[in-house]
Amino acid sequence: MLDAIHKAIDEKYSKMVEIRRYLHQYPEVSFKEYKTAQYIADFYEELGIPYKTKVGGNGVVATLKGAKPGKTIALRADFDALPIQDEKDVPYKSKVDGVTHACGHDGHTATLLTLAKVMKDYQEVLPGTIVFLHQHAEEYAPGGAKPMVEAGALEGVDAVFGTHLWATTPLGVMQTSKDVFMAGTDRFEITIQGQGGHGAYPHETKDAIVIGTQVVSQLQQIVARRLDPLETAVVTVGIFDAGDAFNIIADKARIQGTVRYLNTEVQEKVIEEMEKIVKGTCVTNDASYNFNYEKGYPPLVNHEKEAQLVLDAAKNIPEIETAEEVIPVMGGEDFAYYTMEKPGAYFFTGANKDGNPYPHHHPKFDIDERALPIAAKTLIQAYFNYQNQ
Ligand code: MN
Repeated sequence: MLDAIHKAIDEKYSKMVEIRRYLHQYPEVSFKEYKTAQYIADFYEELGIPYKTKVGGNGVVATLKGAKPGKTIALRADFDALPIQDEKDVPYKSKVDGVTHACGHDGHTATLLTLAKVMKDYQEVLPGTIVFLHQHAEEYAPGGAKPMVEAGALEGVDAVFGTHLWATTPLGVMQTSKDVFMAGTDRFEITIQGQGGHGAYPHETKDAIVIGTQVVSQLQQIVARRLDPLETAVVTVGIFDAGDAFNIIADKARIQGTVRYLNTEVQEKVIEEMEKIVKGTCVTNDASYNFNYEKGYPPLVNHEKEAQLVLDAAKNIPEIETAEEVIPVMGGEDFAYYTMEKPGAYFFTGANKDGNPYPHHHPKFDIDERALPIAAKTLIQAYFNYQNQ
């Protein structure tokens, strides 16, 4: 049956590309994907597969119940875009100013919809149940996965699988991990309140720029000097905002950034050290501060057995030359919430386009569309491997 399914996926390739390019031209940002959600719902309506809309927000969940007994497995695709101007010169360029699918979620959606269309034809011989999880708002914490889980999207589900088309990995390569695969992603904002004044009389002020830069440079020492060298974390300051004029001493500095980590002990250690640094520096300099730390997506941890099923699945896909276990990446993914709830695995489907060097979230990001059928085949192969184990 799988050979026939693979063939059916290949036969729908041009339609798959058409769906992806349509979605690419009409992207919507996180939590505002109303038309995309409607497009997905209409697709299932036409297929005659039962579905629910507004699951935990704009989420759509469709359920294809096979005629044969078996397990219930969820396959997930996210569908939000990013507030980035499309700078590609392609016929399917975004028609929405300032918004583009710069992460490939359009491709994820086209993959899963096409797979649903193919599998509908096999309903009478299908063992188990496929739950098609179309998730909104992956790009912006608190994200769509958590509310979808809370709304019951994984109720009765035995395992969950998902893939990301990965633009920096070559076509024909599949990557996953049997443990932590992607990082936890937090954000922070530190406001330092000094005392402004005339640039000629520094002794009468508390210079927020001088204090703020001390904080920034001390933060670099968390990873370099305070964390076990065998542990992994990132502390990045992305915004430093202070001062209005060249001859005035700034009274306030605003520092914003992100923390990445692979386990919660490291996360807690980083928070603790950040607090000490901010407090200590401000006490020394007689300034006050506000430290706001927001926990975002937790690390994405794959389950060993399900990750092995995906690696085995790849062996059955002729287009996949290499299926490999890789070290974690420091990007985040709210798929993390699914594998916290149920056994499952997430993997990357190599989708690099003609050596295009532009990574995810770049204005010129693009994917090789030939990766879409590979992603669909790997997902359905993992589904069958799970049923047959
Ligand atoms: Mn993404």
